[in-house]
Amino acid sequence: MNVELINTGSELMLGRVLNTHQQWLCRRLADLGYVVTRQVAVADTGPDIEQAVREALARADLVITTGGLGPTSDDLTRELIAQLLGRALREDASIVDQIERFFAGRKRPMPERTRVQAMVPAGALVLPNPQGTAPGLAMEVRPNPYRREGTASWLVMLPGPPRELRPMFNEVVVPLLGQVLPPESEFVCRSLRTTGVGESVVQEKIGGLLQPLVAAGLELGYCARSGQVDVRLAARTPSARLLVRQAEGIVREKIGRDVYAVDDEELETVVVRGLTERKQTLALAESCTGGALAHRITNVPGASAVLLAGWVTYSNEAKQKSLGVRAETLATHGAVSEEAAREMALGARQLSQANFALSVTGIAGPSGGTVAKPVGTVFVGLATPEKVLVLRNFNPYDRETFKQVTTQQALEVLRRTCLL
Ligand code: ATP
Ligand code: MG
Repeated sequence: MNVELINTGSELMLGRVLNTHQQWLCRRLADLGYVVTRQVAVADTGPDIEQAVREALARADLVITTGGLGPTSDDLTRELIAQLLGRALREDASIVDQIERFFAGRKRPMPERTRVQAMVPAGALVLPNPQGTAPGLAMEVRPNPYRREGTASWLVMLPGPPRELRPMFNEVVVPLLGQVLPPESEFVCRSLRTTGVGESVVQEKIGGLLQPLVAAGLELGYCARSGQVDVRLAARTPSARLLVRQAEGIVREKIGRDVYAVDDEELETVVVRGLTERKQTLALAESCTGGALAHRITNVPGASAVLLAGWVTYSNEAKQKSLGVRAETLATHGAVSEEAAREMALGARQLSQANFALSVTGIAGPSGGTVAKPVGTVFVGLATPEKVLVLRNFNPYDRETFKQVTTQQALEVLRRTCLL
């Protein structure tokens, strides 16, 4: 089955709005067993939308458009599609009624322009929009004049605002698709998230072993992001579940220690859960990450059972006063040093009485680097009841990526050392 997605909106082409519909809809559809084969974004102009819809109808069993159902002059999708398919538009009294009630509920006069949203192409199903005034539309294009075989396609038009599109898709479109275009086969997909290993190393370790399963229909993908590599195992054959399970077994056997989570789970969630289960606690001593480590930990519900305290000690003075880092250490080795990271972690652990303490000190840049310690140099310390471990890493990225990667490394050293 071919599914194509057309996102309309000049704001997308100008980079003013991130095309979140692309990710959200592709993900929801994939989880339901539909894989989007092509996606385009086009400006709000008539010829662009028309051409995109015509091309998609020539290939796809299901075409989904987003945006352009509103009342303003740049909202053209409904009229264009009706024209393209030669379907007359007629006003639907029940939609007018609904729009009137929407405005009455807000004690605002109904602008005349909004009536255009009640126009429905002949034969189209109306998809109610409890969050707004523009309903979605769905229609079967049968026969489909743009498809060589002349077979039928479904065309679904969704409104632009995410808070309208998402409930409409979940509550109305999903059941409709289940009836008119049930997925051909189950789609099973699991992403095994790894961190600390480069993408080519991951592939080297597992690629060959997975080859027979790939030949049997396993879809294998690697997705490298800052500080992590996701191994995506997917299948849509009748034995999809078994294939993915076998593949996961192989991956876990070869690089099980590197796999910290499955699908969307974050490393901080895994760390908080691991510490909670063990009834262990954590303290944080941060410099260059500016509290980002504490932020990630406290994003997890239940973090209070785990996190006792965190310090953001950005200046040398604060490192000495708050954490007991020795002046001599700073003078001899500098604030970005193995020794400073060690004393920060020790200080945080001792002061908080936590089981473990993590520390980070580094040079985020763009200035402040030296030959011996170039921009991107960072020391990550971990104090446990038995020892202090300090890693030296090199993360020469923009400041935000630097923080993301560094906090990932800190959480990972804790996971590997204390939670496996
Ligand atoms: P409206 O009635 O609000 O005009 P509409 O169906 O006409 O709805 P658009 O005008 O195309 O939709 O978009 C409305 C708003 O929805 C945009 O300003 C934008 O903020 C958001 N939006 C549209 N498309 C996307 C997209 N692909 N990803 C994220 N947000 C989007
Ligand atoms: Mg609009």
